[in-house]
Amino acid sequence: MRACVLTATGGIEHIQIAEVPDAPAPRAGEVRVAVHAAALNHLDLFVAAGLPGTAERFPFVVGADGAGIVETIGPGVTTVQPGDRVMLNPGISDYSCEFCRAGEHSLCVNYRLLGEHLPGTMAELVTVPAHNVARVPNLSPPLTWAEAAAFSLVTLTAWRMLVTRARVTQGETVLVWGVGGGVSLTAMRIAKLFGARVFVTSSDDAKLAAATQLGADATFNHRTQKVAEEIRVLTNKRGVDVVIENVGAATWDDSLRCLRRGGRLVTCGATSGPQVGLDIRRLFWHHWSLLGSTMGSAAEYAEIVRQLGKGELRPIVDRVFPMAQARQGYERLARGEQLGKVVIEVPS
Ligand SMILES: [Zn+2]
Repeated sequence: MRACVLTATGGIEHIQIAEVPDAPAPRAGEVRVAVHAAALNHLDLFVAAGLPGTAERFPFVVGADGAGIVETIGPGVTTVQPGDRVMLNPGISDYSCEFCRAGEHSLCVNYRLLGEHLPGTMAELVTVPAHNVARVPNLSPPLTWAEAAAFSLVTLTAWRMLVTRARVTQGETVLVWGVGGGVSLTAMRIAKLFGARVFVTSSDDAKLAAATQLGADATFNHRTQKVAEEIRVLTNKRGVDVVIENVGAATWDDSLRCLRRGGRLVTCGATSGPQVGLDIRRLFWHHWSLLGSTMGSAAEYAEIVRQLGKGELRPIVDRVFPMAQARQGYERLARGEQLGKVVIEVPS
């Protein structure tokens, strides 16, 4: 099959289109999907750069997000049939450890991601557990393959951050850094869905204007404005109820300065660096909750698919590249030019 692969780690110059062996025929409980589109995430840049414990065998098929048509089902699969249009949940759990048994599939001790630990979605075929596919909801107008591929990773991540971890409620204030990113943009939309007031940042005024169109209540250019000071003015020195972080080192101090007494900070990433400082006296004095979050559970995935079926959280696609030009998609993401998802069309 044709696939987009890494021939080595060390950067996106190692991305190539290659002929590789077909994804294996599905075993019991698995399905094989003929992929029509795959979406890029910041994770794909980290995998290309090289993360410990990932992408060790080359050529390695990249891509976490994807959507396509069920091609073959393994024994015992009853939830989908060949021919079904499906989206993929990229988080693979063992469904047997204590955390899985408690319904916390993204805490699984054997948690692995497509395109990071396992062969990914940017290929004509991918084989995954049937647990990890969901039928594409019927919407009007119908979801495109690009939209379906763009849905899972960022929506699942942002949903767990806002709903399960931060427990955002109507009337609360939420600060989201870097609204051009897929998780951040989706976090803004989920916070609005729950009736929160949402403040967003970007270094790009055009993205801030677009965010306003999509519902942002206030916007800040974090390159030209001092966000923490602006937030203090905007909230009468109180600070926001919730901060949504995935930037890390560059924004951490300001995130804490923006947080109200008793506020919650949720982080799912560290794109600018993972090491930050914390004055423990401020943590206990202000009763802050600092919350980690990664991906989400099967129940959370089912819930976001249900929301999509109601017409909510329809993915915002930035640009679609044919698989032959996948590297250009990576470059667009690396330069931070996107608003919404960069999608790779897989030829079928
Ligand atoms: Zn498990």
